[in-house]
Amino acid sequence: MKYTSTALFSLLLASACLYSCSPNPYASTNREHKKQLKAYSKQLRTVPAIDPETSTLTFGEHWVGTTNFSLRRPNFVVIHHTAQNSTDHTLKTFTKPQTQVSAHYVIGRDGKVYHMLNDNLRAWHGGNSRWGNNTDLNSSSIGIELDNNGAEPFEEAQISSLLEVLAMLKETHGIPAENFIGHSDIAPVRKVDPNATFPWKRLAEHGYGLWYDEGVVEQYLQPAAPITVLDSTGTEPVLILQPLDSISTIPPHFNPKEALRIIGYDTRDMPAAIRAFKLHFIQDEVSMELTEKDKIILYNLYQKYL
Ligand SMILES: [Zn+2]
Repeated sequence: MKYTSTALFSLLLASACLYSCSPNPYASTNREHKKQLKAYSKQLRTVPAIDPETSTLTFGEHWVGTTNFSLRRPNFVVIHHTAQNSTDHTLKTFTKPQTQVSAHYVIGRDGKVYHMLNDNLRAWHGGNSRWGNNTDLNSSSIGIELDNNGAEPFEEAQISSLLEVLAMLKETHGIPAENFIGHSDIAPVRKVDPNATFPWKRLAEHGYGLWYDEGVVEQYLQPAAPITVLDSTGTEPVLILQPLDSISTIPPHFNPKEALRIIGYDTRDMPAAIRAFKLHFIQDEVSMELTEKDKIILYNLYQKYL
């Protein structure tokens, strides 16, 4: 089919308009978002923040505000899968007040990114959660939801966008590598997201999360053979030498519960903590029990968190 230049121009104009001129279906919830921002900024502008008239505290003679401050900074990133069938479904969920759930970012299967909340504000994505002694992850983290039904692999376009978002967040907020974690890590009893196909190893290779030294596991799976020293006749063994690298890398006093706790897991429900650990670091076999191989991985990994 051939187009005249005028027809082609009109077609281009029409397609550009389709994106920028179509009404935003979220116009009314965007207005509500701005209204809430206004209320919070009013709260921030209220000085002194504690009313001396109603407080029982004894204050100094004058209110004195410091000149040296900034916004609080997020220090964790928590990754989720939505367990829903489309990005639209999730956007609707996060704009309905009655659901009481939200995230800073939603990333579609097609890689499209929706930045729903300023990074410096508190989204409601972690729920009842714990990581180390931090019991309010929502206050210190950025929540990222990946559109995924919970049982399927993640699309390449989606992971590629996620890596770009993570690079931006790490750069902007200076988030340490070990603080890129999953929802199941911080809520092991209640949550199993992101699912076992999530590429945690790939993320760690880019500096988002930690990973174990795979060499120690290979060593465990293929231990070097012992060397037998024979007597002078060359027939009777007198000594069997165990090569250093075939000796177990786990000391006898190693305590898996303490190791999981040091990494950050809430170990009050140990089987759930093990399942969360395996969902993140083992992935091809997710159960509530640690095998010898899992213990070697855990021992190697927890030393990186010390
Ligand atoms: Zn989640």
